[in-house]
Amino acid sequence: MTKALIIGGGIAGPVTAMALQKAGIDSVVYEAHETGADDVGAFMTIMNNGFDALHAIDADKPVLEASFPADRAFFWSGSGKKLGEAPIGGGTAGAYGPHTIKRAELYRVLHEEATQRGIQIEHGERLDDVDTDLDQGVAAIFADGSRRKGDLLIGADGIHSATRVLIDPEAPEPRYTGTVVLCGYARQAPVDPVPGVYRMIYGKRVFFAYTTAPDGETWWFVNLPRPELSKAELAATSLEERKRQATALLRRDRSPAAGIVEASEQIRASNGYDIASTPRWHAGRMIVIGDAAHAAAPNAGHGASMAMEDAVVLAKCLRDMPEPVAAFRAYEQQRRERVERLVATSAKMGGTATPGPMKRLIRDMAISKRLKSGPRNTAAWLTQYHIDWDASCTSQRSSIADSR
Ligand SMILES: Cc1cc2nc3c(=O)[nH]c(=O)nc-3n(C[C@H](O)[C@H](O)[C@H](O)COP(=O)(O)OP(=O)(O)OC[C@H]3O[C@@H](n4cnc5c(N)ncnc54)[C@H](O)[C@@H]3O)c2cc1C
Repeated sequence: MTKALIIGGGIAGPVTAMALQKAGIDSVVYEAHETGADDVGAFMTIMNNGFDALHAIDADKPVLEASFPADRAFFWSGSGKKLGEAPIGGGTAGAYGPHTIKRAELYRVLHEEATQRGIQIEHGERLDDVDTDLDQGVAAIFADGSRRKGDLLIGADGIHSATRVLIDPEAPEPRYTGTVVLCGYARQAPVDPVPGVYRMIYGKRVFFAYTTAPDGETWWFVNLPRPELSKAELAATSLEERKRQATALLRRDRSPAAGIVEASEQIRASNGYDIASTPRWHAGRMIVIGDAAHAAAPNAGHGASMAMEDAVVLAKCLRDMPEPVAAFRAYEQQRRERVERLVATSAKMGGTATPGPMKRLIRDMAISKRLKSGPRNTAAWLTQYHIDWDASCTSQRSSIADSR
């Protein structure tokens, strides 16, 4: 039986392991962290296409149960004017609406599901190097010097992937988007809890959004245009300092944002990164998937759903083409155009310049006009992507075209 070494136990890692198991391929997941991973304090939205990918391997239910639906967004300007409302994800039809979940919770649920299925996940194993000079297969070499041998190695090790560089030492570095994302949680925020919706504020200086979890806690994020935070700043900045950073940019808005930030018990910062294009996804028996291959800036809220799609499509390719190089080629052919389109779309949705009063007025009028004209289904190509587990892996391409 083929054995895959999966590097990274975030989202793509455990989903790939479950999908490979369904395809009859054995695997072990190696995760660098003893528990959880980086950025576990953030929360994210899983879209219809992410759930559809999980459904293909019967893993949608636990994620649905651990998350909460929030499928409508209400938009305000920084001067307190309501700009309109719209369904999140463009209101595109699909079996699943958008669901919100903390990253740590998503990792936990996926790990539990994989472990229940008999998949081995080893923690505290950081990939450092590989040995491709074997008669057959590939060996992963970990930071403690230990080696594990397999038939192929799948790098699901995120934006700062070691596998990407082992595949191609010239691989591009992640690009800082110019925005730090703060995510926070407040049990006693000065707002009426309205479950099932997001409130989004195009402020005078920054974009702020919040929603209410089922237990009444307010979850929020704000995009701060500023220089990249160093590792030390990410780890050591106090809660009070984070509040100060955010409220300094929110105070001028007629919105509850500054009050929500002040009331927060927890705030977590992440630098926004993306990679416009990674020229080489695979070499020999190694491949990268998820953020390791195509990280998108968080703006479109689709990186996790794409990582889930990657995992299932790759497993289908390996099921149908047992020769790894052929499978990797088929996989790349089906995935590259789609994921790079997301990266470009997400980058366009960003913007680090603080608009002046006139530009803000024009922006707010444009948002209001667009919302009044009703849902335009601009996200259909993203959210309506469907994976048919039983169809041959090479037929996936046509469903991309159909969803445009
Ligand atoms: C602030 C923020 C908000 C976001 N919001 C959303 C959202 O709303 N919706 C959405 O879909 N996406 C969102 N994203 C993007 C999403 O988080 C990523 O696209 C997704 O996590 C990618 O999954 P992955 O499995 O490829 O990588 P990751 O989830 O990053 O997992 C990689 C794993 O590999 C491990 N690892 C790293 N190096 C090694 C090594 N050398 N050896 C072994 N293990 C290693 C890491 O510890 C980690 O567990 C957001 C991102 C950020 C930063």
